[in-house]
Amino acid sequence: MATNGCEGRLKMIEELTTNAEQIQDEVLGEILSRNAGTEYLRGYLHGQTEKQLFKKNVPIVTYEDLKPYIDRIANGETSDILLAEPITGFFLSSRTSGGQPKLMPVTAEVANKWELFRGLYESPAIKHFGDINQAGKRLELMFGRPEIETPSGLKAASVSTSIYNECNFRTILSKLYTSPIETIFCPDPNQGLYCQLLFGLIQRDEVVKVGSVFASTVLRGIKFVENHWQELCYDIKTGQLTDWITDSGCRNAASLVMKPNPEQADLIETICNCKSWEGIIRKLWPKARYIGCICTGIMRQYTTELEFYSRGLPLVSDLYACSEAICGINLEPLHKPCDVSYTFLPNMAYFEFLPVKNEGDGSIEMKSNNEDTELVDLVNVKAGQCYELVVTTCAGLYRYKVGDVLMVSGFYNNAPQFQFVERKNVILSVDQEKTSETDLFKAVTEAKALLDPLGFILTEYTSYVDTSSAPGHYVLFWEIKGKEGKHCKELDPKIMSLHYTYKIYRKRNIIAALEIRVVKQGCFEALMDYYVSKGTSLSQYKKPSCIKSEEALKILDSRVIGKYFSPKPSL
Ligand code: AMP
Repeated sequence: MATNGCEGRLKMIEELTTNAEQIQDEVLGEILSRNAGTEYLRGYLHGQTEKQLFKKNVPIVTYEDLKPYIDRIANGETSDILLAEPITGFFLSSRTSGGQPKLMPVTAEVANKWELFRGLYESPAIKHFGDINQAGKRLELMFGRPEIETPSGLKAASVSTSIYNECNFRTILSKLYTSPIETIFCPDPNQGLYCQLLFGLIQRDEVVKVGSVFASTVLRGIKFVENHWQELCYDIKTGQLTDWITDSGCRNAASLVMKPNPEQADLIETICNCKSWEGIIRKLWPKARYIGCICTGIMRQYTTELEFYSRGLPLVSDLYACSEAICGINLEPLHKPCDVSYTFLPNMAYFEFLPVKNEGDGSIEMKSNNEDTELVDLVNVKAGQCYELVVTTCAGLYRYKVGDVLMVSGFYNNAPQFQFVERKNVILSVDQEKTSETDLFKAVTEAKALLDPLGFILTEYTSYVDTSSAPGHYVLFWEIKGKEGKHCKELDPKIMSLHYTYKIYRKRNIIAALEIRVVKQGCFEALMDYYVSKGTSLSQYKKPSCIKSEEALKILDSRVIGKYFSPKPSL
């Protein structure tokens, strides 16, 4: 079924994975020869470009180490302090540093790599499902944000927004996608979502792929249809857009295509009116061949529900990438989300791997200090072993720890394949927001200070993400002592305030209300006893900041004496 373009790309994947070692050496050689003279690398390499010297002298870093350089560039200094190629802008990562999104330098080469990658990662799916570009359109839920301008005048946007802003993307949009650009960039995501679903339903007979970047967004879309189908059908029947869509871009886009279509509206109404919504995606978009969205990592929690709505339509996680670097593609689109592996593409960056070990309650511990640990090259990783990903890119990241933990599941030709294990240091995450142990610690410390004058002492806490109902929410277990007979019934959950990204997601109802479960005195001792009974040495016991074990959760839940839900935060 593969088309010529697709065949060429599949051949390219064969070549890249076969020659992984040589390509990795070339990628590093090129990066070093271009950038050895930058202020950053000069300090470590003194103008030399040998791989051995790079491995010996260049430190393994995090964003905080590179931030001073990146900030200097964002504030107007020339970018050659960090990289030789001129910077064209920044990617905004969904992760934050000091409450601000991380900025990743972007160059023309980065843009070319993304362009190439877009062709590559879809080719395994095209091989299996046929050329969706020729067969019809994609109903892809997409949400762009306005670009931010740095003091130097450089633009910063998320990877997806940058793609939606590209000329190439805009040229193919109306041919390949059901969503007009105005709905993608609608400032109100709910209005944008309504319109994207409306356009997707109007063109339902043409839709060959339903998707979004992440599984949570697809699910959110389906739930939105569940709540709004009557209104959507009315709009389709009358050819008029509902009044609450006030965005002029969306209204203009709608006025160009909407005309009364009572037959289509009746068909959709009959489908939506049925008792069970099992398989609804298939019914609403009968020509859809698959659902494309990332279903691995933190997104795994959404797959069961998505499988219910899609019933039989494969869920395909095409790619693994981040703002820092493009990493891998899924060569087996028919694999179940839990079995998905990403084959690394050796031309995208220079990849190294820091061995980590997985302990008990999902906690990850470094084998030894970074400084003493030998980083492993891409082709030398061992099957079954977990590693933290470290990248060196053409855009000024040198031995940069991405913070993702991956497990080697096998090899394709000479390139390793990885399963995504988890984010390192992220303990709470419902959607794309990430709350680290430090974020939680900070928020609880602030809450403690507010509780104290109210007569409460917060003595113990831990956390958990409850996804038993959608959207998921954060649960905090608190052990509290009331001063002078104070009772926790008087507790005001407003005192618990999380970081900015959390608040945005909470405000948009992507995360449900934060819940504080107050537990009986002694509860955390019982928790400790449990871990000790499982083999943890008492002197080395560290209370988990986030509970992942069912049994541990039961211990806490059986001692709950009060539950409190926080109101929506103001931003
Ligand atoms: P960002 O830098 O905001 O683009 O976020 C990138 C992060 O999303 C990665 O570092 C991963 O933690 C996560 N991510 C991206 N792709 C996948 C995937 N296929 N499976 C699991 N997590 C992913």
